[in-house]
Amino acid sequence: MTQIQISKRLQTIASYCPQDAIIADIGSDHALLASYLLVKHEARFVIAGELNEGPYQAAVRQIASLTAKDHASVRKGDGLAVLEPNEAEVICIAGMGGQLIASILNNGITKLGKVKRLILQPNVGEDSLRRWLYDHGFQLVAEEILEEDGIIYEIIVAEPGNPESPYQSDRWSRDELMQIGPFLLQKKSAIMQKKWINELDKWVKIKERMQQSTREETREKLSEIDGKITWIKGVLTCLQTDKASYK
Ligand code: SAM
Repeated sequence: MTQIQISKRLQTIASYCPQDAIIADIGSDHALLASYLLVKHEARFVIAGELNEGPYQAAVRQIASLTAKDHASVRKGDGLAVLEPNEAEVICIAGMGGQLIASILNNGITKLGKVKRLILQPNVGEDSLRRWLYDHGFQLVAEEILEEDGIIYEIIVAEPGNPESPYQSDRWSRDELMQIGPFLLQKKSAIMQKKWINELDKWVKIKERMQQSTREETREKLSEIDGKITWIKGVLTCLQTDKASYK
């Protein structure tokens, strides 16, 4: 059998792809995820979509090397434009900013008619992606956070449904949960704590730099940053399993 080596990040994405489905991977680069889904994950058919010529050619070569290549299609184009309406049952979009993923979904909204699941991995801007999903009737059904080669990644899985459902909380507003990730908040994983400790460190350093400034407008921003730091400490307290408050 053809060996396909993929990262832990792509394997986690694949683990959320149902078997025997028609799966599109948009922004496929070398089509490694699509190949893995076909060879190891028993996808019925995979579509690798890619905007740029270099990665598109790499994807063509990769898919051509597979025995199961008749169950795959490599297409060049922008976002979901490569799909027919009602074609893909599952769409993966990984390794881009959350806003770009949201704009790809938005521009291709007419291609989402048959979609049963979206598996998305934003590098940044997770909150704007959760907002788009909420506004367009997609319900978060799972979230993952993982670290690979020193980088922390979040994966968001959503299906058509009741978008309000994961945002029930006495403590947190919907907007806050969109920033944190409602499933990630419940998991309280060590990587999740690390992500928010990094975030806290970032804002503390920004504050220290600003404190050295004499500009009035900069000083006005300090109270905003103080509010952000207090909020992140609240998130960290919530993520701690022993419930001690974060100093
Ligand atoms: N999805 C792969 C992964 O997660 O490892 C590749 C991620 S790579 C950082 C992003 C890929 O998306 C690039 O190959 C880029 O050319 C492609 N891309 C960017 N914008 C796109 C768009 N609007 N439509 C299709 N592909 C796009």
